Amino acid sequence: MKSAILVVEDEPITQKLIVANLERAGYEVVRASSVPEAKVAIREVLPILVLLDWVLPDVTGVSFIRQLRTDQRTCDVPIIMLTSRTNDTDKIAGLEAGADDYITKPFSPGELLARVKAVIRRRAPLHSDQAVEIAGLRLDPAAHRITAGTRKIELGATEFRLLHFFMSHPERVYSRGQLLDEVWGDHVFVDDRTVDVHIRRIRQALHPSGHHELIETLRGIGYRFLRAPADSGANAEAEAAAPVAPAATAEGTESAVSAL
Ligand code: CA
Repeated sequence: MKSAILVVEDEPITQKLIVANLERAGYEVVRASSVPEAKVAIREVLPILVLLDWVLPDVTGVSFIRQLRTDQRTCDVPIIMLTSRTNDTDKIAGLEAGADDYITKPFSPGELLARVKAVIRRRAPLHSDQAVEIAGLRLDPAAHRITAGTRKIELGATEFRLLHFFMSHPERVYSRGQLLDEVWGDHVFVDDRTVDVHIRRIRQALHPSGHHELIETLRGIGYRFLRAPADSGANAEAEAAAPVAPAATAEGTESAVSAL
């Protein structure tokens, strides 16, 4: 499953420039010069982000945004509009149609990347390289590393993605079906119980540091990742103040972790 940014831009030079900058920053890129081409690309793989030019042949960028937003499969795809117009009403029209952000041409490579990263971080954290940390459990996507204090936690690729998703969306309840959509991606047909198998593996891996308690099962509903272990009576409001592992603070030692 490849996750790429889709660039929809009909001006060859601009398209080339954008693609080169994104690729240099390490992104996979799929390019399209028109809305019909973009539709074909999206049918194959759902992109993690669409960079969409405002003025395209035949179909305008704005009407394409509306189409994407009304289709259940594409309604959540982050979209950044590219526009050479500086007219405020156009920007407002783009944002109202469902764009997450816009970039006015001409733009610097630095601005392009900054906005792309910001929208991905906000709208598709699973594709962000930014490390997340909850209750002393730290997941670093760039290094593909999970640690609880000084303890290193080994997980398979799917468990890693699932934990990354949970940690990026704490305190929210997800059904098995939603987790499959979010973590396994679309076009994937697996049984709901697959989720349970992977959750069990994550819990096993997190057990030594006590972080398994952060994954809550809601019978008949799904799962929720907590910011702090569900309290067993005493500290209902202690939430943020109660790290799971002592190792969460500063340089937690191996002995502190295994003391759990
Ligand atoms: Ca254009």
